[in-house]
Amino acid sequence: MGIQIDNYRRILKELGSSVTLVAVSKTKPVSDIRALYDAGQRDFGENYVQELLEKAPQLPADIRWHFIGHLQTNKVKLILPVVQLIHGVDSLKLLKEINKQAAKTGKPVDCLLQVHIAQEETKFGLDETELREVLKTVRTEGMDHVRICGLMGMASFSTDTSLLVKEFRQLRQLFDSCKELAPAGNHFQQLSMGMSSDYRLAIEEGSTMLRIGSLLFGEREQK
Ligand SMILES: *Cc1c(COP(=O)(O)O)cnc(C)c1O
Repeated sequence: MGIQIDNYRRILKELGSSVTLVAVSKTKPVSDIRALYDAGQRDFGENYVQELLEKAPQLPADIRWHFIGHLQTNKVKLILPVVQLIHGVDSLKLLKEINKQAAKTGKPVDCLLQVHIAQEETKFGLDETELREVLKTVRTEGMDHVRICGLMGMASFSTDTSLLVKEFRQLRQLFDSCKELAPAGNHFQQLSMGMSSDYRLAIEEGSTMLRIGSLLFGEREQK
């Protein structure tokens, strides 16, 4: 099917310059990523460690790779050399492991904390209490090798606009209220929310980072 270049151009226009588009390329071949790269895209998102590690070396080095999947602690050290931003940090244990592995490389790693906003039980993420707890721990323990750059969330799998708006709004309010809890350094700036089906609503509700796959690359085979 190949990349949807018209969609790409249209979405870029809708975003303006204040929102970052992360092109989600999971399950898609390197040739499709290359084609979107040639059209100017630099931020790409992958969900699976092995897939990211296979693709990244075959593609230009100035691509910014976003890890948007569920990350297991034992895989952290594999992706650190490749990844620019880890979106799905959903436990203190994972954050501590990232901090520990990053300390060995000497380079701080940018992370987003994933918050559970959807109705579905299965989606990963912290609840509000856990989120505040994690932010507090980062400050009191001085984790120098992780930079908490903001929050990430996934809305319910639903076409009910009012439900989606409610969930995005809830995440946005949490983002605003957590700013003061975030560690010093002013890194807490990103709100990663919005996918192919709901990105316009997400922008209206204050998203700074969209993760869009199927609109750019076509539908995926089930994995
Ligand atoms: C797959 C995925 C996306 C992109 O989904 P589309 O509906 O194809 O745009 C965004 N975020 C996460 C976390 C994903 O796993």
